[in-house]
Amino acid sequence: MLGLMQDWPLLCTKVIDHAAEHHGGREVVSRSVEGPIHRTTYRDVRRRSLRLAKRLQRDGVKRGARIATLAWNTWRHLECWYGILGAGAVYHTLNPRLFPDQIAWIMNDAEDEIVFADLTFLPILEAIAPRVSSLRRVVVLTDAAHLPLNTLDAVPYEEWLAEADEDFAWVPAEERDAAGMCYTSGTTGMPKGVVYSHRSNVLHSMIAVQPDAMNISARDRVMPVVPLFHANGWGIAFSCPMVGAAMIMPGPKMDGASIHELLTSERVSFSAAVPTVWMMLLQHLQATGGAVPDLKRVVIGGAACPRVVCEAFEKRYGVEVVHAWGMTELSPLGTLNVPTADWEGLDDEALYRLKEKQGRVPFGVEMKVTDDQGHDLPRDGRSFGRLKVRGPAVSSAYHKGAGAEAFEADGWFDTGDVAHIDASGTMQITDRAKDVIKSGGEWISTIELENLAVGHPDVTEAAVIGVPHPKWDERPLLVVVPREGASLTRQAMLDYLSGRVARWWMPDDVVFVEAIPHTATGKIQKMELRKSFADYRLPSADPVA
Ligand code: AMP
Repeated sequence: MLGLMQDWPLLCTKVIDHAAEHHGGREVVSRSVEGPIHRTTYRDVRRRSLRLAKRLQRDGVKRGARIATLAWNTWRHLECWYGILGAGAVYHTLNPRLFPDQIAWIMNDAEDEIVFADLTFLPILEAIAPRVSSLRRVVVLTDAAHLPLNTLDAVPYEEWLAEADEDFAWVPAEERDAAGMCYTSGTTGMPKGVVYSHRSNVLHSMIAVQPDAMNISARDRVMPVVPLFHANGWGIAFSCPMVGAAMIMPGPKMDGASIHELLTSERVSFSAAVPTVWMMLLQHLQATGGAVPDLKRVVIGGAACPRVVCEAFEKRYGVEVVHAWGMTELSPLGTLNVPTADWEGLDDEALYRLKEKQGRVPFGVEMKVTDDQGHDLPRDGRSFGRLKVRGPAVSSAYHKGAGAEAFEADGWFDTGDVAHIDASGTMQITDRAKDVIKSGGEWISTIELENLAVGHPDVTEAAVIGVPHPKWDERPLLVVVPREGASLTRQAMLDYLSGRVARWWMPDDVVFVEAIPHTATGKIQKMELRKSFADYRLPSADPVA
């Protein structure tokens, strides 16, 4: 017997239709690339997205075509997403922080036909466009007055858009059709294309807005600092219109002062970003004595959130921190660390140790940890192994069948992360599988050591890598960027860690550097770091020592 309920397809276009119809006047505020603050509403975003879809059709864009964006978070970028998917095509966000060669490779792999680019990124496109054989048009997200001379035959967005009207119906789509695309950062091997469907995006947003997830409502003013080009923009481009939350888009300026200015002038209540952005904001607040009176909650993910960041937000500024874990392949939310009734009465120490974990899965994500042979590990908060997930917003394959080994026959996706899960279902990431340190057959978590190290007031950033050791195979080396003007010593650093970690986890050495290399999504580039310390010998590995 079949259920007698309507087959209401889960389409992303329904999200913007709903927002325009029921939250039509809600604002989308952006810091434009040209400079001034720009204000619009969901009603107008939908109108212009309809135009955009119609205009794309005139350009010959067919269902399933990949249309790229190389852009900051602004209202125009949002219109591009809805206009592209509303034309039956696939929005493909490009990460401008990648090397131009990588961007060209990705565009060719995706076979992008058109690219919408911010002014900022014209030089990148001028360098690579001749090598992207599928590319037939460049639209620059500005007006004719701001468009500089270029070698791309580029057209200005505003005038191009004005050539169509909004008398258009979204191109009919199936909920399983592709809606969007985003490549993994490619720290191992070539980047791989993740392809979101309308259905996965809608379900992901319904999951994301729940109180025990991101908890976004029509009463919120949300600032996605996380770029739309990073891991599907954490789904925020769908979650906010779905519930009618206002969006405050930071555009190209993501330094502490600019973020602070918008947080206060636009009375932002909720924001999401990676830890480095929040560290910059906290440094700015501390240096200027500033405050964030309207900000209630921040979601921090993309990399482990150090305890100092969490404590500073909560204790100094009264902002609740939700630590989250996810990845491009998960649309991207995997777990969120929100309080449960069991947290009541915990002392400070227990509470903040708990908050360092990445949290529990919402309904819609299944998760387990296995050993290398694929046997499930107990949920005891200690046994760590390979973290695997499945769900309706989790990838089932990469574009063109790349990286097939990550997808297991029974539907589990191997995340490449190493983690443990405790009896309450709370997960903690200990490492990327390729970064974990194996010392004498036991594993040492580099993330835990890094989190502790950045707790030292004289440390700006820290990374831990394994270096070869004749007796133990590998031992941890702590690489530290000291705070400017600080006179931090190796011994002071070791003394600070001593007693805070198991003795055998203690780094064998500490080195000070000016900077630590990062990937295009702001993660520490351990592979590069290991390369630069390839000839390094630990004092403990020296037979004379
Ligand atoms: P991306 O697909 O670029 O978002 O990268 C996903 C990867 O970032 C994950 O597989 C993790 O290794 C890492 N990651 C994301 N969130 C966290 C977190 N809260 N703590 C530790 N690592 C994280």
